[in-house]
Amino acid sequence: MAEVQWLEEVYKRKDLLLTELVKLLSIDSVLDETTSEPSAPFGRKIAQALSFMLELGERDGFKTRNVDGYAGHIEWGQGEELIGVLTHVDVVPAGDGWTSHPFDPQIREGKLYARGAIDDKGPTMAAYFALRLVKELNLPLSKRVRLIMGCDEESYWRCMKYYFEREEMPLMGFTPDADFPLIIAEKGFLDFKVVGESQPTSPPLDGWLLAEFKAGQRVNMVPDYAVAKLVGSGDVFDLKMKVQEFLMDHQLKGFAEEADDYVRIVCYGEAFHGSEPHKGRNAALELARFLKGIRLDPSGARYIQMIDECLIDSFFGEKLSLEMEDDLVGKLTVNAGVFHYESGKDHYVRINVRYPIREDAEQIIAQVEKQMAAYQMNVTDLDHKPAHYCEPDHPLIKTLAKVYEGQTGQKAELLSTGGGTYARTLKTGVAFGPLFPGKVETAHQKDEFIELEDLFKATAIYAQAIYELAK
Ligand SMILES: [Zn+2]
Repeated sequence: MAEVQWLEEVYKRKDLLLTELVKLLSIDSVLDETTSEPSAPFGRKIAQALSFMLELGERDGFKTRNVDGYAGHIEWGQGEELIGVLTHVDVVPAGDGWTSHPFDPQIREGKLYARGAIDDKGPTMAAYFALRLVKELNLPLSKRVRLIMGCDEESYWRCMKYYFEREEMPLMGFTPDADFPLIIAEKGFLDFKVVGESQPTSPPLDGWLLAEFKAGQRVNMVPDYAVAKLVGSGDVFDLKMKVQEFLMDHQLKGFAEEADDYVRIVCYGEAFHGSEPHKGRNAALELARFLKGIRLDPSGARYIQMIDECLIDSFFGEKLSLEMEDDLVGKLTVNAGVFHYESGKDHYVRINVRYPIREDAEQIIAQVEKQMAAYQMNVTDLDHKPAHYCEPDHPLIKTLAKVYEGQTGQKAELLSTGGGTYARTLKTGVAFGPLFPGKVETAHQKDEFIELEDLFKATAIYAQAIYELAK
């Protein structure tokens, strides 16, 4: 058989690929549980995006299956064994500040702009056309290949959980939802709340009652805004001066203002992804740093003390006695993403810990619990995603590396991440593209784009990868 010119074959089909991708990108498939139905658990639009892909597959002669709107697959090939390619059709909300409408895809200077262009609808369509290419070229396969598309990747991963409880686990697979060349190691995740109860108290005579302390919306983001409300009959002018001084000293933005019966203090930080909390500026931790210098009611003081003694300047778990690191994924990280305190009610901090491959999650939680007991707080709402690792000499790695090196002429370095991809839902799996080394990452940002040349290159790589794994 003559050698396949993968990229050339993709170019012959590029207009059709773009046409179908633009249609997929036009569906604003953001999680919307107000439009949930039994067949559309994550809302009407996400269901529409999944149906669009499955109808495409059916039209082109593939076997397809919609697994109750949680996920679906498009299948080709024959044989006992199964290869999986995992992508997702849901997207994060568009946010503000776009040059063109996020759900009206536009091409400018060789880039396709739209929410989902690189995360993860562009790669979904690339993987689909890769599979289609293998089919159209009549390449003989000894295994089956499934393009498995999830619908809840950006939120709670309910999709793949549901799917793999009902469908077969592939022998091995890859997910085009991160970086090229290959990501073989992913940190483990622990999301949890530390919760305490505060007693109703009144302001101390020469101090303040911490009536409220709030920051953050997502556990995996560094909060960029924090607010505290203080009640009392203390010296408001003095308090405001102290706030100003603190903000200046720490080069922070914020203010203090007097309202009806309280003083409101606002502190701004810098948002960042929770996998690298030290690269942002946590507004809540900074505000707590200020408040620890103020005389507060016992309950409020204890909450702030916990933050000070366990979380401030402790992005690598220093104050939680959780300093650990390996040479695969680096250091354990701690992101305190959501803060909620109301005097006289339950209070909590939501924390995301990302730990090295071989560490013991139970031990980590036990250590946190032990330390929280000193503040009469408990660990609740624990969500654990174990670390993920694929041995470098596994045939999956060898095959994907060979394909990547053959098509790009560049060495397939093996990477690791503090982020999480669908690869970890597979028994044996890795993340494989679509972002090429040195390219700008625009996932989850305004003006998200994929470079057209990269889209076609990725399609060619996926096509050969599918063929080599399933031949
Ligand atoms: Zn994604």
